[in-house]
Amino acid sequence: MRTLIKNGTVVTATETVEADVLVEDERVVLIGLSLEAEADRTIDAFGRYVMPGGIDPHTHMDLPFGGSFCSDDFATGTRAAAFGGTTTIVDFALQGTDEGLRPGLDLWLEKAEKAYTDFGLHMIVKRIDDQVLKEMDQLVGEGVTSFKLFMAYPGVFMLDDGSIFRAMQRAADSGALIMMHAENGGPIDVLVQQYLAEGKTDPMWHGRSRPSSMEGEAVHRVFKLAELAGTPAYIVHLSSRDALNAVREARDRGLPAFAETCPQYLYLSEDDMARPGFEGAKFVCSPPLRPADHQEDLWKGLQAGDLQLVATDHAPFNYVGQKDLGVGNFAKIPNGLPSVEDRFTLIFQGVHDGRISLSRFVELVATAPAKMFGLYPRKGTIAPGSDADIVVFDPNHERVLSAQTHHMNVDYSCFEGMKVRGLPELVMQRGRVLVENGQFHGSEGQGQFVRRSRFQEP
Ligand SMILES: [Zn+2]
Repeated sequence: MRTLIKNGTVVTATETVEADVLVEDERVVLIGLSLEAEADRTIDAFGRYVMPGGIDPHTHMDLPFGGSFCSDDFATGTRAAAFGGTTTIVDFALQGTDEGLRPGLDLWLEKAEKAYTDFGLHMIVKRIDDQVLKEMDQLVGEGVTSFKLFMAYPGVFMLDDGSIFRAMQRAADSGALIMMHAENGGPIDVLVQQYLAEGKTDPMWHGRSRPSSMEGEAVHRVFKLAELAGTPAYIVHLSSRDALNAVREARDRGLPAFAETCPQYLYLSEDDMARPGFEGAKFVCSPPLRPADHQEDLWKGLQAGDLQLVATDHAPFNYVGQKDLGVGNFAKIPNGLPSVEDRFTLIFQGVHDGRISLSRFVELVATAPAKMFGLYPRKGTIAPGSDADIVVFDPNHERVLSAQTHHMNVDYSCFEGMKVRGLPELVMQRGRVLVENGQFHGSEGQGQFVRRSRFQEP
């Protein structure tokens, strides 16, 4: 099967060129001017950008929460991702209580059998002991090359600094990448209890109980510990100026310090958590949305390279029936927002707004995630030999984001009513069309598990 994508503008992290792309079976085989190859199908991409499929390295599909699950599983979530221009996700397998890592990984591989897009897995580690450290090494050999640890949620996920340090030392030996949820959970939990006791139960108090100073403190600690262990470290869902400053300080000292931010921190603010009634619950995630003046700093971080990429932390919960568990107690609101479908176009908006270049856009949503998480050069670029994961993107298509039209299995949109320009018209994964002009052509389970190689500095 050969597909020729003609007359488009090919954009990669390093260049923008008028060129045709020839795809044979699952791979890109040729890029060139006015290719005259025989093809089973020719796609006219005139006036369109031809870009590598998005890679979202931070999603939570089928995530258990309080006896239920987040509202997207691997089928609905990856279908929505594809509509949005994302062809690979890296989700988080979860270590079970009183278990090693293996059962949690096996469970996630089973959950992910329904995926429409390719996927990799990180592993969330809740407990560190000799056995777990050994298992981490084994998993690296199986293509699970990154591990997420928590400095928040005492009694559930939070690890002490000694355990974090042991995991980092191990990662220094194995080449794994340590990813950190960096918020200081001790004082945060004290504030949560105090606010609730004072009757401050509305969603906005979720944000007040998790101040940005406690994110900045934790990020600072991550890089001090990683420096001592002699290993790189990566901050997930960086939300604030305080945290960004700590990343920049580490990078200025030459340390391998990395971080992602998410669309919600670039476009939403604590004002959304203070919306009337209980509506603020739609915006409850951790770390929380910050005062609006942090957004500009985060965009600058993306421009300057102190932030390397944009992920989503997609973790959708319905407003009715899930978020409303926290009426009268913000601590019971499930944490997380839906955004896997919107990331690509929301960050492209940064190109329209003159904040980032076309190539930087591709780098932020595809190339840097591929490099950081061991998927490059198979994914994250358009080059001979790479997987034909391709988005044909109309940069000028005007539309309005809405729960009425999105494909995520959740009853609201955080970006309801927002006008954006740009539409992934055709989305191809390994040479097969997943989405074309609003129609879905994928088949359940066609996504494959991708064994990732070790961390590579983007
Ligand atoms: Zn997350």
